[in-house]
Amino acid sequence: MLKINNLLPILIAGIFICSCTEERSAPEAKPGSEKKGGTAAVADEAPESAQTREKQVEPAKPALDTDYLMGKFDPSKHPDFVTVKAPYTDRQGMMLRREAFEAFREMWKAAKKEGVELNIKSSTRNFQQQKAIWDGKWQKYAKEKPGSKERALKILEYSAMPGASRHHWGTDVDLNDLNNTSMESGGKYKKVYDWLAAHAHEYGFCQPYTAGRAAGYKEEKWHWSYIPLSQGYTERFRELITDEEFGGFSGASSAVEIEVVKNYVLGINEKCR
Ligand SMILES: [Zn+2]
Repeated sequence: MLKINNLLPILIAGIFICSCTEERSAPEAKPGSEKKGGTAAVADEAPESAQTREKQVEPAKPALDTDYLMGKFDPSKHPDFVTVKAPYTDRQGMMLRREAFEAFREMWKAAKKEGVELNIKSSTRNFQQQKAIWDGKWQKYAKEKPGSKERALKILEYSAMPGASRHHWGTDVDLNDLNNTSMESGGKYKKVYDWLAAHAHEYGFCQPYTAGRAAGYKEEKWHWSYIPLSQGYTERFRELITDEEFGGFSGASSAVEIEVVKNYVLGINEKCR
């Protein structure tokens, strides 16, 4: 009896240690599984307890952080992006977030049935691609608009600052023709615009740059946004990003004076918010 009594605490302690060791080793038995989320998720991870790590592995989604919202990532390496090909576009290298593309595909089919052919001319553009557009225009308007703020405002009529474009998010597309008049009376794509204005909302799409807004880019009848995703991204942008954040392109310092976040990122059609 005496011997058993002495052994009992040792046995209980042994069982306890064993189960702990098993638990602790479980997450380590899946090396690399947390990397599935892509670079953004990995960059966000700090050394933490086994329990916390196990929870983070489960969603395996890159974070919706400042870098994502400002287009500082490679969509071709992002697990939630898909390549878009014909018949939805006649361009190469088009990418969208999967959910946005699936909704677009349904919209495309419905439009097609009514004799309307939607054609994606531009989709996701990351920071570097937007910077190429911006810096090109910065050179183009150098003589016409020598002042930094005036030149930025000129470009901002139709083009976003790198870091502030909705095209960074994988939720927005430019359709058929980047030209308002071709989508108006007598224009080649009037039928396309009329169809979108009547039906795009049925598929989750909204026109963020309508006529008559108080601030922001000019009207763009060709630009449509998948709001089940982009509504949340707009809100997240408002929470996370200030005008001081913009940098790495010509005339970036004018972002603060122009109040790019308030006037441009948030200066959209109220129905898209
Ligand atoms: Zn656009």
